[in-house]
Amino acid sequence: MEPKYVEKAVIEASYESIGRIRSRLGEAAPRYYIETYGCQMNEHDSETLAGMLEKMGFTRAEDKPNADLIIFNTCCIRDNAERRTFGNVGFIKELKKENPALILGVCGCMMQQSDAAKRMMARFPFVDLVFGTNELAVFPQLLERVMEGERVLEIRDTEGEIPEGLPIKRNEGFSTFVNIMYGCNNFCSYCIVPYVRGRERSRRAEDIVEEVRRAVQEEGFTEVTLLGQNVNSYNGNGVSFPELLRMVNKVEGLKRLRFMTSHPKDLSHELVMAMAECDKVCEHIHLPVQSGSNRILKLMNRRYTREHYLELVRDLRENVPGIEITTDIIVGFPTETDEDLEDTLSLVREAGFSAAYSFAYSVRQGTVAARMEGQIPEEVKKARLARLNSVIMESAVGQNDKYLGTEGEILIEGRDTRGEPMMFGKLPSLKMVYVKGGEELIGQYRRVRINGIRFNSLAGEIID
Ligand code: SF4
Repeated sequence: MEPKYVEKAVIEASYESIGRIRSRLGEAAPRYYIETYGCQMNEHDSETLAGMLEKMGFTRAEDKPNADLIIFNTCCIRDNAERRTFGNVGFIKELKKENPALILGVCGCMMQQSDAAKRMMARFPFVDLVFGTNELAVFPQLLERVMEGERVLEIRDTEGEIPEGLPIKRNEGFSTFVNIMYGCNNFCSYCIVPYVRGRERSRRAEDIVEEVRRAVQEEGFTEVTLLGQNVNSYNGNGVSFPELLRMVNKVEGLKRLRFMTSHPKDLSHELVMAMAECDKVCEHIHLPVQSGSNRILKLMNRRYTREHYLELVRDLRENVPGIEITTDIIVGFPTETDEDLEDTLSLVREAGFSAAYSFAYSVRQGTVAARMEGQIPEEVKKARLARLNSVIMESAVGQNDKYLGTEGEILIEGRDTRGEPMMFGKLPSLKMVYVKGGEELIGQYRRVRINGIRFNSLAGEIID
């Protein structure tokens, strides 16, 4: 099915609204501050909000007390997310007292759940604007209404549309994200994302390539990560994800190409081969497994087995030399037994992950798993998580020896001032390497030889 785009007329109306706000603000240059919670998708939405605000004439504030407009871009994935978000919004009351003209907005996944949005408006009368994930494109119009004195709550329950052509103010650095698709169709039984981000829809391949080209050639980024909830099922006008990788790989000036997140059920051999063939695609994949037990995978509605997952790992290792695989794992899913946990631990040992993000299952209201019988007591989850973490660590640290004496290229990202100051950067495999050197190295790609291991990272020396 053709994805729906936000209508051109709506985007044009947003630009008109941006223009009107700009004239209204004149030389004032008020300051904005966006606090973002959750995943890269939210970070990316915040970059779009920042892009629109800067076009209106706002400038970025260092912190909340110095801002004239504050936006909380919320997430509903983590434990106690609502309590924490409401707490943080509550603190703004004092700032509002000092500066009654301060505008306060709240948006993002949590607000897309209309109950939470209504609670936000009811509990905090000083919140001026609440909007959901489907309103990004009309943010200027909503802000204009607020500036005219209205208190605005706007949540549309649509299947989701693609907002193309909005301005973006990217976070500083050398590495940036480009969204290739929105939403998710998978309905993993523990996950709220399909309910708050709508059905899966892919952007046109040529729009993506053009955005990457601009980020690289006009804004100076050298590393791009293609972003989506399930990039492996990308399908933009008949262009598959492996084809898209090949297209983006040709962008001149781009040095490194990454992507996330991959779903094992949609990871094809063709994609593995595209990774192998495209020189800019990094030797790393984040491939969430979630559990090593087939019974639990079924209850999670993941639609693959541990055998299939391990087959993918073999295919990747065979065809993409030096690849590192990272993953996400949930323990304590409803009905999980000690045997299920053992299956997960044995999969971790077999797959040889270089890192794994582990979580104790926690209920997301509105999901299928929240209604399942056999919820696991918190102390059992905690004990299982501790066991899992020690196996992950053992397995990850054990992988590092193979790097000793090898050479590779790192993108130097910053300076670590704990202990002896060192510069740090990542290999294409995402392994962190510490080297001696000065801050002028930041942003450079340098060849290094690995000569030591620092817990779960590496030490090296620059050799070019
Ligand atoms: S693939 Fe599953 S875990 Fe990922 S966003 Fe979709 S439903 Fe959630």
